[in-house]
Amino acid sequence: GIKSVDDNYFGSYSSFAIHREMLGDKVRTEAYRDALLDNPSLMNGATVLDVGCGTGILSLFAAKAGASKVIAVDGSAKMVSVATEVAKNNGFLYGENMEMEQKRDTQVISVVHTKAEELNHKIQVPSSGFDVLVSEWMGYCLLYESMLSSVLYARDHFLKPGGAILPDTATIFGAGFGKGGTSLPFWENVYGFDMSCIGKEVTGNSARFPVVDIVESQDIVTETAVLHSFDLATMKPDEMDFTASFELRLSESGTPQSGVTRCYGIVLWFDTAFTKRFCKEKPVNLTTSPFSTPTHWSQTIFTFREPIVMAKEAPLVGSSASVGTDQCPAVIIRSRVSIVRASEHRSIDVSMETTGI
Ligand code: SAH
Repeated sequence: GIKSVDDNYFGSYSSFAIHREMLGDKVRTEAYRDALLDNPSLMNGATVLDVGCGTGILSLFAAKAGASKVIAVDGSAKMVSVATEVAKNNGFLYGENMEMEQKRDTQVISVVHTKAEELNHKIQVPSSGFDVLVSEWMGYCLLYESMLSSVLYARDHFLKPGGAILPDTATIFGAGFGKGGTSLPFWENVYGFDMSCIGKEVTGNSARFPVVDIVESQDIVTETAVLHSFDLATMKPDEMDFTASFELRLSESGTPQSGVTRCYGIVLWFDTAFTKRFCKEKPVNLTTSPFSTPTHWSQTIFTFREPIVMAKEAPLVGSSASVGTDQCPAVIIRSRVSIVRASEHRSIDVSMETTGI
């Protein structure tokens, strides 16, 4: 279901700690800042819809970039009152003594308490639609508890034809990780004591549930595979349910000098991009990759029940599925071990299944 209809969902966002965490995530916030401030041909004079404004940070960037009008919406009453006060304190709302009509015409940022889907019940939406829709809707693993369906609804009802959606692409990636990507090494030597029985229990649990945590790049043992790409300007809402197949090939760095490489699970992450389609002067990519600076999304880890021995000539063949609009992809991995004999070529399938959070 769509979490946004739930009062508890909006209630949880009233906690400033979450907004502190998001604002403190520089990779995230600076990507939006650069996309909004460094693309004047897009933003100057534009009408902008900020879906899920929270503290109003994206609306403030848009107003600073020269937007003529910004409508900021949030389903949380608390965040609406906070965003209104912030906009006012930064000179983007006008004085309280101004006439109502005059105010509505002159203020740059208007904050509206509504679910994005019901915006047209609350205000007169520009008849031709907004020039730009901006939103930070991404959840863990891109889609977990994400607001994407609300953003697509707003796109289809309130954005002008050909208008800009920011960001405009999103991609889910995956790669296999070795023992170091699990908590096993930690528990094997705790101040010189062997607590590996705990490590095994922890790993066993994360075989049933994906875990949100950081994976170090040196623990990745395969090449990176693309699981799925979304074009946010054109995708249909039902594209959020997808199945994808992918191959994970042992990487150069994952290949040991001697012995074998075991893959203990796969790690998923996502990028979203503000491409040159709309951001002509300065395209921006926001990555949550284990090869880049960590973000508050970390990565999402699916651990196998048993590690899989990797071979150069036999990649892992996986498929992933996202079922339901608010779920992180479930992952099914097959380790295909091809055995070639003189007259016979057969493959053995080892299936591993890890389902969504
Ligand atoms: N744009 C802010 C906040 C992002 S968090 C920033 O970048 O820092 C997402 C916000 O969207 C939350 O404040 C939440 O209350 C709001 N939200 C989620 N679903 C919504 C919906 N359907 N309509 C309006 N607001 C929504």
